[in-house]
Amino acid sequence: MMGMTMMTTNQTARRAPVRALMCLIALMSASTACSTVEPVPERPEWRLAIHGGAGVILRENLTEEQEAAYRAALETALQAGADVLRDGGSAVDAVQAAVIPMEDDPLFNAGHGAVFTAAGRHELDASIMDGSDRNAGAVAGVKRVKNPILAARAVMDRSDHVMFAGQGADAFAARQGLEMVDNSYFDTDRRRESLERVLERRARTAADRHGTVGAVAIDQDGNVAAATTTGGMTAKTAGRVGDSPLIGAATYAQNGVCAVSATGHGEYFIRVGVAKTVCARVELAGEDIETAAENALGQVAALGGDGGLVLMDGDGEAAFVFNSAGMYRGSIDPDGIETAIYGDE
Ligand code: ASP
Repeated sequence: MMGMTMMTTNQTARRAPVRALMCLIALMSASTACSTVEPVPERPEWRLAIHGGAGVILRENLTEEQEAAYRAALETALQAGADVLRDGGSAVDAVQAAVIPMEDDPLFNAGHGAVFTAAGRHELDASIMDGSDRNAGAVAGVKRVKNPILAARAVMDRSDHVMFAGQGADAFAARQGLEMVDNSYFDTDRRRESLERVLERRARTAADRHGTVGAVAIDQDGNVAAATTTGGMTAKTAGRVGDSPLIGAATYAQNGVCAVSATGHGEYFIRVGVAKTVCARVELAGEDIETAAENALGQVAALGGDGGLVLMDGDGEAAFVFNSAGMYRGSIDPDGIETAIYGDE
């Protein structure tokens, strides 16, 4: 197993003045000892964090141009979500807005640019969850809806159900007026080459699998949300469904607790129930999101899997935790935008 990498948005500098002010008020009123004053965590006005997949992502394997293209694509996605949050939009609209440009960008294994199944087709999975009411929507194995995340959202908003699969899911998306495409719209040469490599080797390595995308956000009202969308795993058997569309495996959001989007070897994430495990540990054991994520990913690693998580807690603290070499990732809030790729940045 690789080491675990953890990063949080650094709020320490912004929180310190709040704590100091609380102490001063307590001392002046002489009614409460300063030490008994509970520090009130300062929530950012809004914040969004995304991932573009975890895996064997090493400096030596990316040219400067490729790295710049990934960083630019991450920034585009972050700005799209930030536009929603800045205007007072909801976290669930923001995570959706952030992942759409990544579904449309062939760099990522979601939408256009999704990996091929062993049969040379594309079967896409997506899910979205609103932490304010824990409403959720998902689609699995869709072949024709251009943006699977919009189909997942339509399931959440416009059906009595949480998940649709296969032909029924595509038919539902078409009835909702979503843009439908031929399956070949998702084709890219790069993913076809990966398919050929995997079929020739008769084995998939961690290097063949990354590019799933996901987002978590907190809006100005303190609501959190999460979204995940993917083409799955290169050369997967037709009909295979991974963790990405499963609420509780790759995606979970609950106000005041946490929001999670996962990427990695889906079978292990399903078996651990990663996203719900993280939120349950935060809610019931009082762990912070990093500790909870480290535990859940530790369980994945113990079973033989790898991958990563983007997380946000109920106060808008964001974190990235992964046990793969790298993870495409980034965050944005009113103070600025950051992107990262490798494990050492
Ligand atoms: N989790 C995805 C799946 O197993 C793949 C990935 O995130 O790389 O379908």
